[in-house]
This record gives sequence, structure tokens and C-alpha cells, in this order.
Amino acid sequence: MSLSPVTSSERTALSLYNILRQERARGFDDSAVIGGLDAFLKRASPELGQILDDIPLYGSLTPVERSKWADLAVEHVRRHLTPNARPPAPPRPESTERPAQPARKTQPRRRIPQAPLKMSDGVSSIKGVWKKNVSRLENIGVSTIRDLVHLFPARHNDFSSIRTVAELVPGDNQTAVLTVWEASETMLGRQRSTQAVLGDETGNIRAVWFNNPWLASQLKSGSRVMLSGRVSVFMGSPVFQGPEYEVLDGADYGVHTGRLVPVYPSTQGLSQRVLRTLVKTALDSCMDQVVEFLPESVMHRNGLIGRAHAVQQMHYPDDWDAFRAARRRLAFDELFLLQLSVVRRRLEWKERGGGVPLSFDASALGSFLDSLPFELTNAQLQSVRDVLSDIRSDSAMNRLLQGDVGSGKTVVAVVAILAAVHSGRQAAFMAPTEVLAEQHYLTVCGLMGGDMSDLSGGNIQRIEVAGLDRPLVVALLLGGHRKRTKDDLHSLMSAGMIDVIIGTHALIQDPVDIPNLALAVVDEQHRFGVLQRASLRSKGERPHMLAMSATPIPRSLALAIHGDLDVSVIDEMPPGRRPIRTRFVDEERRDAAYAFVRKEVEAGRQSFVVCPLIDESEVIQTKAAQEEYKRLSTEVFPDLSVDLLHGRMSLQTKQQVMDGFKDGSTDILVSTPVVEVGIDVPNATVMLIDGAERFGLSQLHQFRGRVGRGIHQSYCLLLSESPGTEALKRLKLLERISDGFTLAEEDLKLRGPGDYLGTRQSGLPPFRVAQITDQDILSMAHREARRLLSDDPDLSRAEHLPLARAFEDYWERSITEIS
Ligand code: ADP
Ligand code: MG
Repeated sequence: MSLSPVTSSERTALSLYNILRQERARGFDDSAVIGGLDAFLKRASPELGQILDDIPLYGSLTPVERSKWADLAVEHVRRHLTPNARPPAPPRPESTERPAQPARKTQPRRRIPQAPLKMSDGVSSIKGVWKKNVSRLENIGVSTIRDLVHLFPARHNDFSSIRTVAELVPGDNQTAVLTVWEASETMLGRQRSTQAVLGDETGNIRAVWFNNPWLASQLKSGSRVMLSGRVSVFMGSPVFQGPEYEVLDGADYGVHTGRLVPVYPSTQGLSQRVLRTLVKTALDSCMDQVVEFLPESVMHRNGLIGRAHAVQQMHYPDDWDAFRAARRRLAFDELFLLQLSVVRRRLEWKERGGGVPLSFDASALGSFLDSLPFELTNAQLQSVRDVLSDIRSDSAMNRLLQGDVGSGKTVVAVVAILAAVHSGRQAAFMAPTEVLAEQHYLTVCGLMGGDMSDLSGGNIQRIEVAGLDRPLVVALLLGGHRKRTKDDLHSLMSAGMIDVIIGTHALIQDPVDIPNLALAVVDEQHRFGVLQRASLRSKGERPHMLAMSATPIPRSLALAIHGDLDVSVIDEMPPGRRPIRTRFVDEERRDAAYAFVRKEVEAGRQSFVVCPLIDESEVIQTKAAQEEYKRLSTEVFPDLSVDLLHGRMSLQTKQQVMDGFKDGSTDILVSTPVVEVGIDVPNATVMLIDGAERFGLSQLHQFRGRVGRGIHQSYCLLLSESPGTEALKRLKLLERISDGFTLAEEDLKLRGPGDYLGTRQSGLPPFRVAQITDQDILSMAHREARRLLSDDPDLSRAEHLPLARAFEDYWERSITEIS
């Protein structure tokens, strides 16, 4: 048997191929060949004539022309290397140099032609697909051809470097076109495997496939194959270890080898080979069914390639540039459809107008600000200006106030509330938990100059405020109040006798009548779903909305989620705050952490201890907290004053516990993590978080924000038993970064945006291609969405019909299923 050598024209083809790859990498600057590519083309022209129809003067082409020619040339080279795959072409003069092909022992496998497929067809309509694989596909959410087409790879293996045996480099991903000498089943270790000896004119090489004995019969002696993968050196000679392979027998090739080859995610028992074959079949059959829904002008302005081409290149890119262009287009699609919905909401909100323009005496607000014990920071002042100018206008405010924990958002809200009251209207202030609502009640009354001694137990308060001709009435309404109390408050409210009502989101859910409501403030806005926000807006007239968030959302993400809100950012802390020192403490140093708490208490400070998160169930969690409290108060700090706060306590008890901590009679406050300790105690300097690995970064940052509110240096101790690598990364980030926004950006890099806020809460669809770090694409999408909707708000123009359909589909299914 003779080995089919690589012919000299095949060598030339390989050289040209590699040169053109280098040229592409260098931007077609004609530097891959010393002296210019034309020298090579001239030298090789006798052989190149068999491969290329057209050999230009490369040096005289523009880079764009070079790129186009290179694409064609590469295609020809590929075909030349595997002549049987060539589509029927006019016969060429037989080359005398070309030795006869070795006789084949078998005919090329005859394939049953695939019947045309439709996107909506089930995967079982693909010829030859196993039943078992159909159900495996279903497990990864793939049931139709459309799903297959949109099952984008997680990454690609770069097998595009085609080399001879002599050129193979151990460790590289690479491809060789080889003739099979012999292949046989063999035992490797205990596994039935295949081994083969293959070669080209430059030498021979062994290949082994562990645990794959049935391959031996496919690799017929004398047949030509393409192998792609890594080569390792075994007993001094190179071996292909489990390479991807394709038999070049005239059927399609370039699915598994010889190029950038897709690697699909989560395969659930499906081999990459099976997935690739199925996806390729779907792509080949359906590319003409992928609908282009972007208006040409949008594609043109942003340099986006066509959707069908992008989908195809996302799986099988010609090269990395082509992949990047494809990814960019598909990411744009996802973000653009998202931005269309977000911008549309915003336009609708503005259009509906219907806000109540508030008129108030600015000097009265000024005298309130003068009465505060501190001066507003510049960031606070700017936010106040933003808010006041919004509520003066007749389109309802829809603003998000973002600021790190402790940056002083409440006082901005209070200014807005006073403006509403000055205008003779009512304001509502909502918090996600009862504890926080109570805290706000105290804070708001305190800031307005209420008599704090009078507050305990009460839930209605009259306050003399500078510039107001009558006492202002502030009330606290909680679900846990007695029915009598609630009824009383309701009737006072509907009679317009209460100016400011503070409560939980029960204010939205229950039928609460606030006839004169002109302003609604929602704290910890991220806890409220979009729906809840919407339901509040629809109550009565359209109140001005001020949403506040202490979960610092990077601007990029804010745009994605809250593109329908105007945003003010307090990016500056009140003066004199010292950064909190944060330390990760492992289990072995638990006692040292307790000793540290004790030391601070002995110096007159106070400490929070957050219990480990045991269970979402409040009952179980409470029990765990009670035990922890018992242990700490009797064993660890028996001589100190320790108290416990958990969510299942009665309101009154909670209030007492918090009062005790506030007035300094409690040294250490143990609390469950589910209780958001929205408590402002400047004398507290230690936040000890037990089981810190169980919490997300933003929640840990929230906890930490409970200390560092006074003049004393404060500390955050992250106690954790054996954190995993991911958790350890989070804890280390917290040690290093104190600014919430930077932290949030880092957090985003660690996880996806869905994870970041929880998809349900963030209202973001799952992305398949876009990442939230695609900031430039996101702002591009935002800009285009605004432009398009300001032009055609209902997407009703004929040329926007495909887009309108895609947009509708977007609501019905996950975005990437649109085709
Ligand atoms: P958050 O933004 O977390 O809601 P708060 O509004 O609770 O922050 O403010 C945190 C603390 O900072 C409060 O005690 C508040 O009185 C105080 N504070 C707010 N603004 C300033 C300021 N400009 N200068 C000094 N202290 C301020
Ligand atoms: Mg707050």
C-alpha cells in the first residue's frame, strides 16, 4: 500500500493558506512574506494556477480588496486540499504532477439527502437523529430547529492552522491533512480504544482515541482524513491525543476540524460531535429563514453585519474578526430589543404627562436646610435640584436616586416631601420591610425637627416645620398594626388629614386611599419589582415618583434596567467619614474576632453581629438566631449587654430592642440576616458577619454600611468557615474595595447581570450573547432605540414591520429564539 503524499500543489496551497492567515492577522499590510506576497505568488504561479482562477497583483490592492480576495483564495485552497468536496466544476486540464489517488477500498458513504427544514420543525425532523438525543436536546432547552440555530457556542477551538506532520508543534491546537496507514482497535489501560498511524510526505504520526473502539472501522487504510487537536510527545514521538477527525470522503467537512470549531455549552450527555453535526445541518438548511429585522440605516450607522450572516458566523466563523463582528451584531440585537421596551416605557410615561406640577416656596425649603445639623454635600444638592425641577413640571417625575449606603439619600427625599406638603398635597414614603419603614418614620420625623422623645410607640406625629403655617402630620402605617389603628389611619388619610404617610409596600397592595397624593418615595427600589412600581403609579392621579436605591448599580446596568427612569447619583459621602476597615476572618480566628468586639465595647463602642444564613424559612432562621444569641450572651459575652433582633418579633418588641441599641444600653445586637437592620447608630463601630460566604457581595456591602456612620474608625469582620473559591473572591473584594459602585462593577464581572439582582427582580431577560460588560454596545443600542422610537413610536411604518414582529416575539419568548 502506498502512502498518498502531499503533492507539491497541496504544499503550495498550505503555504498560501498560512500566509493569508498571517496577512489577515496583520490587517492585510502585505508584511507576511518578506519582500511582499507578490513575490510568493509569482514563484508559486505554476501550482497556484491549479488552485486559483485569479491571481491579482496583491501589492496594488487596497486592504479591503485584499481581504475579499483572501476570502476567495482560502475557500479555493480548502477545496483544493479536499478535492472530493469540490462542487462539480468545469473539468480542468489534468495536471501531470498530480499522482493518482490511491484506490479507495470503499465508495464514499452515500448520505440520504436532508429534506428541507423549517425553523419551527422539531429536531426529530433532522435525518438520522437518535430518539435518545432528541430527549437529551430537550433537556438543554432545544426542541426546534430554531432552538438549534440559536444554541450559540460557549467558545471555539482554533484549529485553523493547517500543518504538515513535520510542522506539528506539541501543545498547539492545529490541523493536519493525513492519509491513514492503518487503524485498529486496541486496549489502552483498561479501555477499548482506537489507534492509528497516519502520515503525509513529511512523516508519520500516531493518533489515539481513548474509549472509542468503533472509530477504527471508519478509518479505512488509504483514506484521507483531517485531524485537529493537540499533539503530545509520547516516548519521544508525537501523538495526536483524541483529536477531532473528519474523513474527507466527499461529504461535508469543516464541521469538526480545520477551522474555528464551535464548542457548545451544557451538553447533558450529548457529544460535541453530535451537537455540531445537528447545528450544522440546521444552519445549512435554514439560513435563508433568519429574518433581518434591523432597519438598514441602523446597521449602516453602527457597522453591523446582517443577522443571518451573523448567526452563521457565530457558530462557524471564518476567523476571529468575523466572530467578533457576529457577536457584536447578535449582542446588539438582544440589547436593542431590550432598550426598545425600556425607552418605550419612558416615552409613554413622559407622553401621558398628567403629573401635578407642584408649586412651593423655595425659601421655606431653604430654611429647612438651614435647620439641619449638617450641610448637604454637592452631590446631595445636585440631586435636590434635579428632584425639585422635576416636580415643578407637569409631566410626572420618574427618577431614581442612587447612592451608596450612608450617602444621605433620606434627606433628599425629605426635601421633596416637604415641597409636596408645601404645595398642599400628600406624600407617601415606602420601605421594603417594616423595620425599615419604622426607621424611616423616626428618621423623617427627626430630620424635620420632631420631638423624638414623643415618638416611642406612637404612629402619628405632629411637627412644627419652619415655613409651614400649620403643624405637619406624619403617620406610620404597617401591616402589623391593630385593625383599629389601621382603620383610624385610613380614614384620616382619606380625609386628607395626614400629610406624610410612611409604610411598607403594603401601601401599594392594599386599597389605600390617599386622595391628594402628589409624591411617592420608594426606598430600596431594587426590592420592588417593576410591577409593583407600576401599581403604585396607577393609584389615583399620577404622583411624582422618586425611587431610591442603595444597591449601587453600575451605570451600564442602570441603563439596561432603568432606561425608563431619570437617574441622580450621590457619588460622594458626607465629610469626615472614615473608610471602614474590612477583614476576612477564618474559623480558626473566631475567638480573636470576638475579642476584638469586646475590645471595642470596652472602649465604649457597640457592635452588630449578623447570624449565619441557615435557611430561607423565617421560622428556622429565627430559631438559629435564638440559639446563637443564647451562646453569645451566656458563653462568649456573659458580662456584656447582648440583645436579639429578628423578624418574627412583635413590632413593639423590635422597637424596644432598637431603642436599647440606639441609646447605648445594648452593647451587642445580634440579628438575623433577613432583618434589614436599617438602623442609624453612629456609636456602632463593628459589624461582624458570621457565615459571610453565604451572602452576596451587595448584601455584605449593605450590612457593612450600618457602621462607619460616626466619628470613630469602624470595622467589618467577615467570619467564614471554608469559603469556596468564588466566595473567597467576594470576601477579598470587600476587603479591598469600600466604594459601592466599584464593588458592583467588580461583582458584575464575577457573575452575570441576571445573577446580580436576580433576573426576576432586575426584570432583565436572560442574554445568550450580550454581556453586561458590553457597555459600548449597550449605549449604542440605547441611542438607536431612542432615535427610532422618536421617529416611529409605534413601530408602525412599513419598513419597521419586521422589527415590530421581532419586538412582539421578544415579549413572548426569550430574545435569541427570534429568527
Ligand atoms: P442612606 O443614603 O443610606 O439612606 P441616610 O440618608 O440614612 O443614608 O444618611 C446616613 C447618615 O448620614 C444619617 O445619619 C444622616 O443624617 C447623615 N447625613 C446625611 N447627609 C449628611 C451630610 N451632608 N453631612 C453629614 N451627615 C449627613
Ligand atoms: Mg436609607
